[in-house]
Amino acid sequence: MMYERIINSEQETEELAHQLSAILEPADVLTLEGDLGAGKTTFTKSVAKGLGITRNVNSPTFTILKQYEGRLPLNHLDVYRLADSDEDLGWDELFYGDAVSIIEWANLIEADLPPERLAIQILRLEDEKRKFTFTPFGKRYEQLCEELFE
Ligand code: ADP
Ligand code: MG
Repeated sequence: MMYERIINSEQETEELAHQLSAILEPADVLTLEGDLGAGKTTFTKSVAKGLGITRNVNSPTFTILKQYEGRLPLNHLDVYRLADSDEDLGWDELFYGDAVSIIEWANLIEADLPPERLAIQILRLEDEKRKFTFTPFGKRYEQLCEELFE
């Protein structure tokens, strides 16, 4: 099952991210796929805001991982630079705690991802128009999608 949503403005992206953040639970894992400029970081910023994170969230490209405190802690990863490396980030530890994890360019590290997760693909259609596709892996995320798109 896949859930598609056409988004017409950056504000609608923010609204979708807020709705999602309201129903996130400890240890949830979201992966974001989409070309440069699709809106992965923009979406993440709004999820973070919805989690009660007041610090500015920006792209962690040069550090790979940034962690924030909020209603739930957030691990924000951008693994673009890891594409061709065998670097071991200690994934298991990262996904073990209470923090929500959001991983940009997750498709580049497919084999290291937890089997249960919510995959979010963002396709830039034109200007501010985007197509979001949510693909849940596992029961938890199927329920989350049903709640989000009911
Ligand atoms: P990515 O992290 O995928 O490379 P960013 O979030 O950094 O992308 O950049 C997305 C850019 O597109 C930002 O400049 C943002 O203002 C713009 N934008 C325009 N419309 C949207 C939209 N509907 N959703 C998200 N970003 C949008
Ligand atoms: Mg980004």
